[in-house]
Amino acid sequence: MIRKFLRKVFSRKPSAFESNAKLSIIPYKRHGIRRNQITACALKIVTTLQQTEFSAYIVGGAVRDLLLGLTPKDFDVATNATPEQVRHIFRRSRIIGRRFRLAHVMCGAETVEVSTFRGHSPDDDDDDHALIQLTDQHGRLLHDNVFGSQEEDAVRRDFTVNALFYDPAKEEILDYLNGYEDIKAKKMRIIGNPVQRFREDPVRMLRAVRLASKLNMQIEEETAKPIGDLAPLLQNVPPSRLFDEMLKLLMSGHALACVVELRARGLHHGLLPMLDVILEQPLGERFITIALKNTDERIRQDKPVSPGFLFAILLWHEVLSAWDSLQAAGEKPLPALFKAMDKILSIQHKKLAIPRRFDAIIQEIWVMQPRFEARSGRKPFRLISHPRFRAAYDFMLLRCESGELNMELGEWWKTFLSADNEEREKCCSTKHRPRKARKT
Ligand code: ATP
Ligand code: MG
Repeated sequence: MIRKFLRKVFSRKPSAFESNAKLSIIPYKRHGIRRNQITACALKIVTTLQQTEFSAYIVGGAVRDLLLGLTPKDFDVATNATPEQVRHIFRRSRIIGRRFRLAHVMCGAETVEVSTFRGHSPDDDDDDHALIQLTDQHGRLLHDNVFGSQEEDAVRRDFTVNALFYDPAKEEILDYLNGYEDIKAKKMRIIGNPVQRFREDPVRMLRAVRLASKLNMQIEEETAKPIGDLAPLLQNVPPSRLFDEMLKLLMSGHALACVVELRARGLHHGLLPMLDVILEQPLGERFITIALKNTDERIRQDKPVSPGFLFAILLWHEVLSAWDSLQAAGEKPLPALFKAMDKILSIQHKKLAIPRRFDAIIQEIWVMQPRFEARSGRKPFRLISHPRFRAAYDFMLLRCESGELNMELGEWWKTFLSADNEEREKCCSTKHRPRKARKT
């Protein structure tokens, strides 16, 4: 035991990171962040931990966003207290996570994540056995629960801009990896060896794309270089985690820029396998471009966007082409649509686990589409009373705007919706010419 310990201490290889870590302390007069920019809850947690003889800091995305003049989504705290100690100090708290154990502390409606400094990248370990247990055969980290020092915690984070610690008591930023300068230079730089860090967690490649779009930064050259070659590693990431990350990306308010960038870097294959095919057809490309632009605007205006709607959009042209082929093979339109939907959803489930709870919305939006073309009698009246009418209607308008459907159909529905009951009756008594055939 002691021999093993001594061997570890004396023969430890310097890790790819250690050489780069050098603490610099940035005072308020340089960074300009006041403690009152932190939420009361996060501030209280940091202060309480510090008064209990622990060290505690605001960390990660919040510090980065404040430096960029953005409003942080949430405030995370990092501390040298273990999750159990945190749990003990705060009455309203709980321990969560398996792969990554941490504490949630609640005050009022706010929940703050409090994580214990993590250390120990597999590269630091001389013991091959431990290394095998920590990573899979592609180098992907399976467990990440070894506690460490603050410096080690900085080094195990993904990008230098995400590795800054803010101490609200002293109003100082602790920067081990030159993240402050990278923020000012608008550079997303991975910490350590890019190939190793992307192997450990391929989702970091998606985070690079999402954060670069959100923060209006460039992915630094050395960081970007291996992404093309390592993109296939996303196949080894559990589909539920891919779904979570993809959803963050689509709901970021920069979905269009992100999807364009994912495709340019070859990262979309495992996520949306057919995206290339769709985007090569002018109609498909127009549809996705218009729809994502529209989603981005809604999110920036704080309007709700449902994940189901987003996935209905991304998969629609695949459904359309499967639907067309089934009809060409002699199937009736409606059963053909159902078969096409099932087929596309089941292919997609294998790649990216869209939770089943979204399936219902996606399918309802699609199934309602042919019903917009029946405009006589009571049919339009029945359609608008459907609980998902609004989503399906917005979807249909996007189809018109992209040129898939005749704009006249969208105009008819706009008139119908803005009319009073009497006028609506009139709308439905006129005969309509069949819509122009779709050109794909
Ligand atoms: P945002 O919340 O704006 O999406 P964020 O950077 O805060 O961005 P979180 O997922 O909240 O993202 O993560 C909080 C912090 O945890 C990050 O800033 C980073 O330091 C660290 N982190 C998150 N994901 C990883 C990862 N895959 N590998 C290493 N560190 C990570
Ligand atoms: Mg965050």
